[in-house]
Amino acid sequence: MQNKKHILIKISGAALKTNDESILDVNKINDLANQIKILKKDYVISIVVGGGNIWRGKIANDLAMDRSMADNMGMLATMINGLSIANVLKNHEVESVVLSSIDTPAFLTYASTNSINQAIKNDQVMIFVGGTGFPFFSTDSCAAIRAAQTNCQLILMGKNGVDGVYSADPKTNPDAIFYENLTYQEALHKNLQVMDQTALALCQENKIETIVFNIDKTDSIIDVLNNKTKYTLIK
Ligand code: UDP
Repeated sequence: MQNKKHILIKISGAALKTNDESILDVNKINDLANQIKILKKDYVISIVVGGGNIWRGKIANDLAMDRSMADNMGMLATMINGLSIANVLKNHEVESVVLSSIDTPAFLTYASTNSINQAIKNDQVMIFVGGTGFPFFSTDSCAAIRAAQTNCQLILMGKNGVDGVYSADPKTNPDAIFYENLTYQEALHKNLQVMDQTALALCQENKIETIVFNIDKTDSIIDVLNNKTKYTLIK
């Protein structure tokens, strides 16, 4: 079992909802669970979930709020999403554990080295929540840290409405060039919209590859891993 390749899937909050008012889209979260169930036979799976469907710290300015407090609320939002994913996985008979960067013993497991190793030993899907545990960071940075911490060599960075990395926004610029391959150096230097710069630098330093793909499509994660769809590979 331990020869399975380890993948980390970064799911933004936006990937869990549609354009309506609901926080979570049942079809999207069920599609995710279906895919995880299939992939779990071949991969050790970590999920890092964002919270942008519920709350983003950036809103602090508009509400004249303290940024740290607003970011704390963002980290709480990731916990709601993580618990939702775990429940849907359970309905699909997939064992998982929600591992939090912030100690919340009443309903989450603290993401210690021991609890991570135990989850891998138990063949559980690891759902990382609470971001890095610090304000002024993002869940992209959390994805890079957790990948490094768990010796995971590949991050699958799901994006909405875009199928990889372009030189400019393809929705507004018809001349935008699609990158099939990129180095972290190029992504950092050109300030491409892949993930934040902290996360890029961490991935580069720890030699973790990232695939950027469109997570909106049904079975998108499986299709990426089977090379059946377009994506950008960064290394
Ligand atoms: N956040 C934070 N520290 C972290 C990760 C997240 O403060 O390490 C807060 C921040 O306010 C952010 C929110 O949680 O806006 C939701 O995270 P993110 O924006 O990364 O979610 P996504 O865009 O992936 O849904």
